[in-house]
Amino acid sequence: MKFYIKTYGCQMNERDSEAAAAMLLDDGHLQVHSEEEADLILFNTCSVREQAELKAIGKLSILKKQSSGKFFGIMGCMAQSRGEELLKKIPHLNFALGTDKIHELPEIVRQLRKGSKTADLEHDNIQDAAGLDSHLVPVNGFKAYVSIMRGCDRFCTYCIVPYVRGRERSRSPEAVLEEIRALAKAGVKEVMLLGQNVAAYGTKGLKMDPDVSPFADLLEETAKIEGIERIRFTSPHPAFFNKRLIECIANTPKVCKYVHLPLQSGSDRILKAMNRPYTAEEYMNIVRSLKEKCNGNIAFSTDIIVGFPGETEEDFEMTRKIMEEVEYDLAYIFKYSPRKGTKASQMEDDVPKEVKEERNQILLKELEKSSQKENLRAVGKTLELLAEGPSRRNAARWCGRTDQNKLAVFENTTGVKVGDKVMVHIDRATSMTLFGTIVTD
Ligand code: SF4
Repeated sequence: MKFYIKTYGCQMNERDSEAAAAMLLDDGHLQVHSEEEADLILFNTCSVREQAELKAIGKLSILKKQSSGKFFGIMGCMAQSRGEELLKKIPHLNFALGTDKIHELPEIVRQLRKGSKTADLEHDNIQDAAGLDSHLVPVNGFKAYVSIMRGCDRFCTYCIVPYVRGRERSRSPEAVLEEIRALAKAGVKEVMLLGQNVAAYGTKGLKMDPDVSPFADLLEETAKIEGIERIRFTSPHPAFFNKRLIECIANTPKVCKYVHLPLQSGSDRILKAMNRPYTAEEYMNIVRSLKEKCNGNIAFSTDIIVGFPGETEEDFEMTRKIMEEVEYDLAYIFKYSPRKGTKASQMEDDVPKEVKEERNQILLKELEKSSQKENLRAVGKTLELLAEGPSRRNAARWCGRTDQNKLAVFENTTGVKVGDKVMVHIDRATSMTLFGTIVTD
């Protein structure tokens, strides 16, 4: 059967789509790159943002009108939270698979032609999310996502993830390292360790201790694997970012000096209402400590919500000030909207739409300033890139990423191949991109 997977949402979802594709390929199916060519169209959909759900449901309805004889399935968070309801509501939807059940996909696809409707939305409470995490799928040939844990125990009041992805389960370090060793043998040079709260990896049952971080242990063990040159991770919760982890990042050269550290708000009052158990000062202490230990050679990205219930001008200004001080390279800024089933959805959504929009625009401008400033700092330096391939806009130019995840474009004058290390002198920069020339000696 020819299948097409459409992914909405975060890197966890992208990772799941890759695993799903690998399983279907293993089972003899063929992956195609458009809905028109496919017999099976699969939506892997995020439900953290309402917009993604609406897009997927809209798309499902449009596709039905255009396609007869095709099969449709949904997987991911939306399937988990609304699978039963959508199967009843959308007659042409054939199946819904929960976030822990993707390994059942090949069997469900085998049964499709028998015409049965299926929903499997149970959570697997096993330590090593079997099957799902053991499919080796290099992205772009030299990069791969590795899922190290699933679920989340934090219950931030605005977030639906703990309800749809279940409670936190960490894979064993042995299983994760074995997977990375195999990826390295297959030519992977860069791994991205994934989880909803990677900094909490392996901490279940442990007392909080500034000198203990099983995640830092995992990073160090990963760094010992021959062939792996860069290690990235996302997302860590600031409450689990302790001294041990900070030192590990600073002192392990293969761990990229680029940290995604979700702030959400710079106001302690709002952080409390969000059930984020850290203060703005504690957050800034992590940032300052990382900057100091890495001699300023580190970049940050973040997530911010504007217009959370009760957010005043004063609260918002605290968030803006933190943005100014940290000078983020990248920030995902969201205008608050209530998600059904969360605690915050019972609070009054009292910040007017226009105010949310205005705050959003202010932070976007702040971000543009800081990312441009950060990129301008790179001008005149020679940086090491891992080459990603021809640039999308102009195939004569190639692009690659620095350790700090900055995208750099260069003329491929020396026959560089995908995944090669290349030294590039940065000649100029915009807020989004660096431009440079290959240095040969
Ligand atoms: S840490 Fe909070 S925001 Fe992140 S997945 Fe868990 S509940 Fe959601």
